[in-house]
Amino acid sequence: MSTDINEQAFNSVRQLISDVCKRMNIDETYHLRLCECERELTVHFPVKMDDGTVKVFTGFRVVHSDTRGPGKGGIRYHPDVTLDEVRALAALMTLKTAVVNIPYGGSKGAVVCNPKALSQSELERLTRRYTAEITILIGPESDIPAPDVGTNPQIMAWIMDTYSMGKGYSVPAVTTGKPIEIGGSKGRFEATGRGCMITTLLATKHFKINAKEATVAVQGAGNVGATAAKLLSREGCRVIAVSDSKSGVYNPKGLNIADLICHKRETGSVNGFKDSETITNAELLGLQCDILVPAAMENQIVKTNADSIKARVIVEGANGPIAPEADRILGDNGIVIIPDILANAGGVVVSYLEWVQGLQSFFWDEAEVNAYLQRIMTNAFTEVWEISQRNKADMRTAAYMLALQRLSCAMRVRGIFP
Ligand code: NAD
Repeated sequence: MSTDINEQAFNSVRQLISDVCKRMNIDETYHLRLCECERELTVHFPVKMDDGTVKVFTGFRVVHSDTRGPGKGGIRYHPDVTLDEVRALAALMTLKTAVVNIPYGGSKGAVVCNPKALSQSELERLTRRYTAEITILIGPESDIPAPDVGTNPQIMAWIMDTYSMGKGYSVPAVTTGKPIEIGGSKGRFEATGRGCMITTLLATKHFKINAKEATVAVQGAGNVGATAAKLLSREGCRVIAVSDSKSGVYNPKGLNIADLICHKRETGSVNGFKDSETITNAELLGLQCDILVPAAMENQIVKTNADSIKARVIVEGANGPIAPEADRILGDNGIVIIPDILANAGGVVVSYLEWVQGLQSFFWDEAEVNAYLQRIMTNAFTEVWEISQRNKADMRTAAYMLALQRLSCAMRVRGIFP
């Protein structure tokens, strides 16, 4: 992604916060506070590479708000990540935790690196040193990391272990998205994709699409995209296209998603999957389908390709996949958007359940976790839907209205110290 786009990322979120605060007559003091991040840490740190050389890496951890509870947000390892992008993602986390009404604020972290180019031992040393550098911010009561693009449960285990070594005792609740063996929650790995599936089915119901006949295209075959595709096909939807960073595959009769996931695991890409034709990411986004799930990276639908989108509903599996100018074009074209702060909130909901289980050392089975997720996502979707109907607002504006209402109330009752 280009630097230009990254530098606009936080401004785009701020603009939406401002617009909705004005629409709701929210006191300017709350609105101005939400347009800044509370804490921002940039670290530059050395890592010994396998060949004996030392490289200096740059990392970030940003807490946008802790008004409603500790900061909560993932850690991204990506070569193009910037501080501005991390700020935007942290702000989205504040809004997301407020929409689903869990007692967290919002934060995000990142290391500028290409994790695919690092060996496992380099990745471990990088993660442990980054953790040591951000220990002044993170903690089970202050700011709790989770996986994001380029990170995974193993990386959460190294963070948890490094933090625990500093304390002298195990602190499982310092991260979520951990392996089950050290306090991870059942259902966490699939939670974001499951949340997407739940919101997609709710959207089909509210926007009068027959889910059993719905055609679905999914951009991104990672944690979110592959899981959403798998669960939606299990619900009877026809997933006609899936892509990853290398290529896309298409079959108008529907792809066998379980087989596609095996193929991706074995070959590293969806490319060359049986019974499918190859398509580009641009072609996937422009397919005739009922539901489009962009579940890869930010700014995939922009001004220049917005008019080519033919889906009836877009469910934002990724954070910020639609640029603001594209959002307006899609709205004018009558396309419904289920926004990221609602559609991909399943991950943070089950992270919350993992944190609660870690704090009380009492663990639930997967059915209990999934039932809780279903309930929270359904409540949040229903609340956003009702606000959108009452205020004649699109679903993104309605989700921001719900979040900003909760955040401004929390700021009001807390007051300002001193
Ligand atoms: P991931 O690294 O597991 O998967 C990303 C996928 O996108 C990969 O298949 C990759 O090949 C593909 N991809 C990358 N660039 C692409 C491009 N230009 N076109 C098509 N495909 C491309 O990441 P993830 O955890 O699935 O996260 C995806 C998105 O969802 C991110 O925006 C992330 O912030 C968001 N998200 C993730 C979670 C979570 O729990 N993992 C929670 C909420 C939001």
